[in-house]
Amino acid sequence: MPTGVPGPTAAPGPSLQQALRTEHRAVPGLVQALGLLTTTQAGLVELTERALQDSPVLERADGAPCPGCGRHTAGGPCRRCRHLAHGRELHEDTDAGTDQFRTLEAQARLEVRPGHGAELTVVLGHLTERGLLDAPVREIARLHGLEPGRVAEALRAVRAAGPPGLGAPDVTTLLAEQAAALVAAGSAPAWTADVVASCLPEVADDDPAGAARRLGITPAQAAQAFEVVRRRLRPAVRWDEAEPPARVPADVFVYRAADGGLDVEVPASAWFGLAIAPVPAAVAASAEARAWLRGHEDRARRLLAQIDARASVLERVARAAVGFQRGFLEAGADRHRPLTRTALAHELGMHPSTVSRAVKDKWMRVPEGRVEPLALLFGTSVAARAALARLLREAGGHRTDALLSGELGHRGFPVARRTVAKYRASLR
Ligand SMILES: [Zn+2]
Repeated sequence: MPTGVPGPTAAPGPSLQQALRTEHRAVPGLVQALGLLTTTQAGLVELTERALQDSPVLERADGAPCPGCGRHTAGGPCRRCRHLAHGRELHEDTDAGTDQFRTLEAQARLEVRPGHGAELTVVLGHLTERGLLDAPVREIARLHGLEPGRVAEALRAVRAAGPPGLGAPDVTTLLAEQAAALVAAGSAPAWTADVVASCLPEVADDDPAGAARRLGITPAQAAQAFEVVRRRLRPAVRWDEAEPPARVPADVFVYRAADGGLDVEVPASAWFGLAIAPVPAAVAASAEARAWLRGHEDRARRLLAQIDARASVLERVARAAVGFQRGFLEAGADRHRPLTRTALAHELGMHPSTVSRAVKDKWMRVPEGRVEPLALLFGTSVAARAALARLLREAGGHRTDALLSGELGHRGFPVARRTVAKYRASLR
């Protein structure tokens, strides 16, 4: 296999190949796309990293990944994520914390439930330099005339997006949360959090025996926790230890457009900042070197074309499915409309197997920041199953299948009794 350019993982059967050839005529670049169509974003990241190492002509533009979405930018959040983070001018001065704060803000905007942007701005404004929340949620809500539940949701998003202890009400809680994170990561003994919660005076007096008595642990265990508290905990959030929450890398990004509609983007080669380097004059002078480079250039170009072709096919499929399921994406399972891969393929003039390959193992990031399987947009009984699940919850599972079938029909889901039995079994 040539460097950095993967072949398809399995050779398609003869009939499929025939179908693909037919399709190739209709959709230029499709056969190129098929090589990478089943590759996930995570696979693509790996592939491009490897190609960058192996290829003398492939290079990545200067810059860094956008903290919001991972797209390669000149630095800081990309245009899309800047848009998500706009509307807040606080903390824009050039102190050392600004970058982390902007990253936090971008991450929190992706995390927070839609429509809570104003509350998020307020909560960010109430963070102290140490990362503490300077007033209780109720007080903040009252001060700004907001609903406490909505402020709490914004605080949840900020905490989820930031380092351990961020948004804590006081230093002891902040230290306890830092300790809990270390315990959860397996890098501190389990009783460290208890030591922080109830023995900070003993830590200050270096009295492990006192802490041991209070907590029913041995003095040696107490001393071990003291060591962690002194060396690893700080009375301010540790931005250097902040890790973005583990996310599945999304293949498809669904954004809320300025007009309120949904927009879809799939990472193409520009997303990765990839480009082919110009040939240096010294190399261009030698025919031998030029020929050597040309081979690498061809392979690099083929890789970029494959990535772009994959993006274009996946984007067409995702855009059509997202447009069709807009109600589902906005309002939940009740609004899911029956959609099969075959029907969508027909609509797009694609082969059903192409749509299947495009959807398989792919993940989409919805505007609220959650990453969900792209396959969620497909299926013929999602809304009916959701309605049945609700009926069963309400009725406590005491109704017969025939009765449930009647009630579902009443709610606009004509589902046969035997199908109800089948759904019921799958819900269990
Ligand atoms: Zn971004």
